[in-house]
Amino acid sequence: MYHAVGHRPATATHRLSVSPEAFAEQMELLGDRGFTPVTTARLGRAWRRGEPLPPRPVLITFDDGYEGVHRHALPVLVEHGFVATLFVSTGWLRGAHEEDGALDTMLDWDQVRALAAAGTEVGGHTHTHPQLDQVDDRRLRFETLRCREIIAGELGEAPVSFAYPYGYSTRRVRQMVRAAGFAQSLAVGNSLARRHQGPYALERVTVRRTTGIEEFERLVEGRAVARTFAGDRALTKGYAVVRKTRRAARLLRM
Ligand SMILES: [Zn+2]
Repeated sequence: MYHAVGHRPATATHRLSVSPEAFAEQMELLGDRGFTPVTTARLGRAWRRGEPLPPRPVLITFDDGYEGVHRHALPVLVEHGFVATLFVSTGWLRGAHEEDGALDTMLDWDQVRALAAAGTEVGGHTHTHPQLDQVDDRRLRFETLRCREIIAGELGEAPVSFAYPYGYSTRRVRQMVRAAGFAQSLAVGNSLARRHQGPYALERVTVRRTTGIEEFERLVEGRAVARTFAGDRALTKGYAVVRKTRRAARLLRM
């Protein structure tokens, strides 16, 4: 899972960004090691219908829709003949449908269409990127349906894959994503995607600015993945507790 690709990303996206050089090196490694990138839609289809996958399949995904995905990542993907999946928050993209809240320079729709024309699958990542487990049913429905409708209108084809903002979901969220028409959805975890996780909770691992090429290799080879993200899991758990406590405090004040 990638976010921004750039030389000087905004502070808010810096930690989760990669430099164009690091991205190129990582793609080179995938090619050298005989990996075959597939789209999220293809993985979903294969696991649903039992269709075969190519040898050493891997998903390359970009969340949010940062402009550097078109500027820096696309030429590298094209050079290798690699496909990827871009998960866009439709209200963050520049131009039509734009709302406040984007963290950095985002793609515009012409750039999204150029990525799609080059074989990148475009999936949904909500309209305004809220924490979906924290919003009510009405907003949850709006965030998933509006996003799907805008992508379908701009690209002429409805998206089939979704990625949860901040990487987590509840049963209620997963049910709504499914009801909105998405066939599979990606989370973030400390393991690689496995069929038994189910189509609406497939895990991905994070590639960050500090991810060196050895760590990247270990991750794609599936070695010591849990250890690499052990700290992250603690953070996620800690955060859930903080939010729960805040909610309890709010209830007490009422
Ligand atoms: Zn996101």
